[in-house]
Amino acid sequence: MAIRKLPNDLGFYLPGTLPGAGRSSEVEGEDVTSEMRSTIYVLVDGRRCGIIDTGMGIEAFRKVTQALHRLRVFPEWVLLTHDHYDHVANAGWFKDEMGVPVYCHEGDRALIEQPLRVFDEDYMMDRYGTTLRDSFGEMNRSERVYSDHVDRALRDRFYPVRVDETLQDGDILEVGSVEVEILHTPGHSPGSVSAYLPRFGAILAGDTPLWFGPGRCSPLGDFRSWVKSMERLLILDTEFIGWGHSAPTEGRSRCRRFLNNTLRRALEVESAVLEEITYEPQSVAELAEMIYGDNVRVLDEQREIAEDSIHSLLGSLRREGAAEPVGPEDGIIRWVATDRS
Ligand SMILES: [Zn+2]
Repeated sequence: MAIRKLPNDLGFYLPGTLPGAGRSSEVEGEDVTSEMRSTIYVLVDGRRCGIIDTGMGIEAFRKVTQALHRLRVFPEWVLLTHDHYDHVANAGWFKDEMGVPVYCHEGDRALIEQPLRVFDEDYMMDRYGTTLRDSFGEMNRSERVYSDHVDRALRDRFYPVRVDETLQDGDILEVGSVEVEILHTPGHSPGSVSAYLPRFGAILAGDTPLWFGPGRCSPLGDFRSWVKSMERLLILDTEFIGWGHSAPTEGRSRCRRFLNNTLRRALEVESAVLEEITYEPQSVAELAEMIYGDNVRVLDEQREIAEDSIHSLLGSLRREGAAEPVGPEDGIIRWVATDRS
């Protein structure tokens, strides 16, 4: 896990791995946390620093704290871009070991503080009008897959952390003389935020730029608000986009192309999905196969993320009255376009 410098002497980051990558090497009882980490960004000015996302696992925590000691800088705050455990797992250590306050958006506070609430059906019904179990059912994931998911979460998401303060769109965090503007960019999660550094034309966008779309099933992921968030990032005209997994994008035209292409592909997926489900009912897996099937890596390692994104899109279409699930027929729930006329 190499430490890389941010441009303009802004600090450093520890690159995270691609979601889904390394899953095949997962062995029961083995420490998989090192393969499930997200990118950690540390903005440094003078003796102060701010940490954006904390990664997961002791190795990541040690790497960051060693670098902080070496540079003789002290963290002023931790900003969590969203509730996903690979981003927030180490926040408690920064808080408990170093007394660093933890910030997030109100929309993700509940699941950051009590991660297992995502499986609390009463809470989810109350908050979202549906449950994760129902979403899994609509993707034809078996009860076994659901319970494996719960098991995995119980094993991995045991890092509740009390958030010190919630932030809103437009709030400013400071590190020395560096201003970090909070942009509420929902879609990957309701409370996803991006850290915008106007002076440097840089944005640290959490998992928002995930190229499948929201990358998370409805109701947690929401395609329509994700599209709006991407449009918002696009008009910022940045020259550095750092996000939760994979390498950052650098250079104004590259950043523009990356966001444009991601958004355009997602809107093409929307058109293709609408066309297919108008023609005949399709399951989430069939749609994912149709859209991403020519990409072997997607099918091998990232099928789940692809399906989650399709479900997030279908969830938005359902809320807009444009699609609905039917069945199960032959044990399969499929989706159809509804007549809006
Ligand atoms: Zn995420």
